Amino acid sequence: MNLLYYWQPDNYRRDRRYGFGYHLSQNSAIMNSVDNGGTIWAFTRRGDGRYVLAAEFLARRVTRNPAGYTYGKYRAWADTDRTRYFDLADAPDIEPIVRGLAVRSNATHLGQSFQGTSAVRFLGVGDVQALSAFAVGLPSLARVGFYPEDVLEARFLGEDVAGRVVRDVSETRIDYLYGRDTPDRQVVREIPNPELFGTNDDMRIRYVMEQLKGGRDSEFRRVATELRETYAGRCQVCEFDPQIRYAQEICHVHHVVWLSRGGDNDRSNLVVLCPNHHAIVHRDDAPFDYGSLAFSFANGAVEALRLNLHLPGIA
Ligand SMILES: [Zn+2]
Ligand SMILES: [Zn+2]
Repeated sequence: MNLLYYWQPDNYRRDRRYGFGYHLSQNSAIMNSVDNGGTIWAFTRRGDGRYVLAAEFLARRVTRNPAGYTYGKYRAWADTDRTRYFDLADAPDIEPIVRGLAVRSNATHLGQSFQGTSAVRFLGVGDVQALSAFAVGLPSLARVGFYPEDVLEARFLGEDVAGRVVRDVSETRIDYLYGRDTPDRQVVREIPNPELFGTNDDMRIRYVMEQLKGGRDSEFRRVATELRETYAGRCQVCEFDPQIRYAQEICHVHHVVWLSRGGDNDRSNLVVLCPNHHAIVHRDDAPFDYGSLAFSFANGAVEALRLNLHLPGIA
């Protein structure tokens, strides 16, 4: 199925601040229809009142958010390679197109037809054709795919995450801006559009740093230590117990919604994982569902948590 989504301007601006994050949360159960694939066509209203196409969001999975989550019960996870966020600056008016869809939208102000759970609607085949035709040649925002911060965050595995973040980000940024070789070529190779490292990334880097600030005294470190104690250092997926067997603390605390995508340090966003499970969850960008308390992988594999003492279920 394919969906039309009205992105409330305030929410659009908030999400854009974090580089969109390739996630879309909503309260409408219609979202489930794009689990296992489907496109969410998202439009919004600019400051000058013009309605514009904001994104062609190709969904991979839809998961349920934890009880009490502010921005909706359902979360769509994007195909990060193919999802496009559009540049709104010179964007054409999409109102005549939306008015012409089979989707009901007869309010005087278009946005009024898409309030609350009406924000998400099913699209017919003809509707999708009209939107696809409209989107041809629309300028996309420059960076689609993984941002440098995602790559960096994926590398922030381990005990010294908070201490390393500032150094790594600034070194990479400098090397990157001046085209120098870095000691770790891996990072540079994985940055998709080096020439476009711009202001939006600054917001995201600042946000990640903000969440991890304080190094050993950081809020994240405090909560992470608490969680590792809760599980006696075991992995919540496989119960690997290095602390018990070897008296070594090597399990990591993973952010379900990555910091670089706007996630936070709330306990409900954190899972204790062994280094192997942490690595595969990042490599696969595996969605986590709070209903089944399980990660799902691109090849169909599902890993339910064997241990859970802190994550809430769904509302
Ligand atoms: Zn594990
Ligand atoms: Zn992680």
